[in-house]
Amino acid sequence: MGKGQEDGGVGGEEYLFKIVLIGDSAVGKSNLLSRFARNEFDNNSKATIGVEFQTQVVDIDGKEIKAQIWDTAGQERFRAVTSAYYRGAVGALVVYDITRRTTFDSVKRWLEELDTHCDTTAAKMLVGNKCDLENIREVSVEEGKNLAEEEKLFFMETSALDSTNVEAAFEVVIREIYSSVSRKVL
Ligand code: GDP
Ligand code: MG
Repeated sequence: MGKGQEDGGVGGEEYLFKIVLIGDSAVGKSNLLSRFARNEFDNNSKATIGVEFQTQVVDIDGKEIKAQIWDTAGQERFRAVTSAYYRGAVGALVVYDITRRTTFDSVKRWLEELDTHCDTTAAKMLVGNKCDLENIREVSVEEGKNLAEEEKLFFMETSALDSTNVEAAFEVVIREIYSSVSRKVL
């Protein structure tokens, strides 16, 4: 809590957390990452195939935490996300597009894949992206909340376009990982 507790058990350590972005193609994963890491939005979805990650330093309660956030960079179009992609991940953002129900229906499959490759204690956030497109919404906030509750996930609706909740979504995941690591150390 207070500054005076800086040396209490976990002080002086370096933190590097691997976090993966998953979800159907074109839900906005790459734009969520570029909005978070560089405050940029790009209308043209890049067709790059491969794996990319960006490292973002986040301050949590005065601790410098490096979040290494991985983006599928197109692999998911072939449902061919490799096990290397998931390896060592301690957090995940499972993204769907609130204007396309099929992407919401895919969430359970992504969660299953995540569970087969990652520690089941990984911090998970269900993200309903493109909430700026209220007029063409296909998935209600309630449905998102219910699924998150059922699957024991955090939940937020975001917009990479207008920045709504983007930082908050990543930070909740990072904070959760940090607190579970702290619990282990203490
Ligand atoms: P990815 O395939 O999941 O990485 O999705 P992209 O980040 O490439 O985004 C796919 C498309 O959706 C692009 O045309 C983006 O401009 C658009 N997009 C991404 N996020 C948002 C958002 O929050 N709002 C709106 N309106 N469009 C978005
Ligand atoms: Mg992408």
